[in-house]
Amino acid sequence: MAKITRPQRASTSNVRSVPKKKSAKTAKARPKPAAKQAAKRATKPKPWTAEEVYEAFSRFRKANPEPKGELEHLNPYTLLVAVVLSAQATDAGVNKATRALFAIADTPAKMIALGEDTVRDYIKTIGLYRNKAKNVIALSEKLIAEFGGEVPRTRTELESLPGAGRKTANVVLNMAFGEHTMAVDTHVFRVGNRTALAPGKTPLELELGLEKVIPSEFMLHAHHWLILHGRYTCLARSPRCEVCLINDLCR
Ligand code: SF4
Repeated sequence: MAKITRPQRASTSNVRSVPKKKSAKTAKARPKPAAKQAAKRATKPKPWTAEEVYEAFSRFRKANPEPKGELEHLNPYTLLVAVVLSAQATDAGVNKATRALFAIADTPAKMIALGEDTVRDYIKTIGLYRNKAKNVIALSEKLIAEFGGEVPRTRTELESLPGAGRKTANVVLNMAFGEHTMAVDTHVFRVGNRTALAPGKTPLELELGLEKVIPSEFMLHAHHWLILHGRYTCLARSPRCEVCLINDLCR
């Protein structure tokens, strides 16, 4: 078998290497970077214009002016607990467990009085319930010790609570305190990428992209419109494009 030798890189700028003429076969197998880029550009969806984004959210608003989240809660504290419990679980599954729990424990003090074992019994139908019961008690203790028993209103403080991450903070800031945050769950991540509204490789990249393109007047409800769109129309396996409100705008 013939040994393949590669041309060595010139070590100084005044040494010019003579490019070897490639055989037709090699040239075809290795497209030039520029050609590669051109091919990539051809398949990359066109970004949405500001008018298109405005149109899409106007349609969402017209169809559902006051969208609601589906996690049941009684106050900011129970919302926080419900969101912590919802990690890798469905809202319906969480609601089934929390209805009875929140009826007897809707404040951090009542939850602590209940104790970790009892909380665990109430939520044992939810995935990762052992760890989540531990977190619910720990976050309740921290709320009492550091925040006067109230749910804090800043991202940093919310993210410091056991079991709470960026998504939890975004949901609580938006739903409990009316802030223009964008919580990215599996539905929002899929819709943002599939429609090419704000493509992102990570939830954070997508979140920041959505915040950039969605006009402020829609931001209070944008998170719910996108979740509901992903949950009921732009389904993961078989998107219902034929009944989709934004079909003509989607990439
Ligand atoms: S047209 Fe289809 S893929 Fe695009 S947002 Fe609608 S349901 Fe999703």
